[in-house]
Amino acid sequence: MNSVSENLQIVHDKIARVACDYGRNPATVQLIAVSKQQPADKIMAALAAGQRAFGENRVQEAQQHWRDLKTTYPDLVLHLIGPLQTNKVREAVRLFDMIETVDRADLVRALAQEMKKQGRTIPCFVQVNTGAEEQKAGILPEDLSALLSLCRDEGLEISGLMCIPPVTEPPSLHFAFLRQLANAHHLANLSMGMTADFEKAVALGATYVRVGTALFGER
Ligand SMILES: *Cc1c(COP(=O)(O)O)cnc(C)c1O
Repeated sequence: MNSVSENLQIVHDKIARVACDYGRNPATVQLIAVSKQQPADKIMAALAAGQRAFGENRVQEAQQHWRDLKTTYPDLVLHLIGPLQTNKVREAVRLFDMIETVDRADLVRALAQEMKKQGRTIPCFVQVNTGAEEQKAGILPEDLSALLSLCRDEGLEISGLMCIPPVTEPPSLHFAFLRQLANAHHLANLSMGMTADFEKAVALGATYVRVGTALFGER
């Protein structure tokens, strides 16, 4: 089995190769290392290899992983990539540097209010349920415009869109659709692509890919 540092190199190389194939500057694609359910030694190995952007899907687990390390590594960038309950907004705004899962009006209002209170502006992504799956988080595509207007009204800075395609469909369709939606709303960033499909996502314009297993091994 490769070390975390070797895996990082492999994933970076793949991103760079696909980006170049599609006429994109590799520096416009950021790798977010998804550290949920991974042991501390692997996280430390990624930090030692220079990785600074990490993704977590639960506020509480992220606090356990990162609260102390944040002081040691002030250049860390922590992304929340899992659903956020409004009663966890205070902790989330304290800990994270990017929130990728804004998907409903009450969360928009709670985040805007809490950021004002803490005097801390965290760029957010709106998560879109591109497959309109019933059990899945994310705003339905037809409701995106209204949610983005609310974000503008509340002063919540939206830097892009995020999606998790249905497992039963070709991800490329969803990546292309997310890009279309982002273009229509003049949003610059796309968070899409995981271990199984990050190269396809880069080909279709991802500016952030969220990769766990390919870096750290199975959870
Ligand atoms: C766990 C997770 C990932 C990483 O998945 P891998 O298949 O391990 O790369 C990416 N995005 C989200 C939202 C996740 O929850």
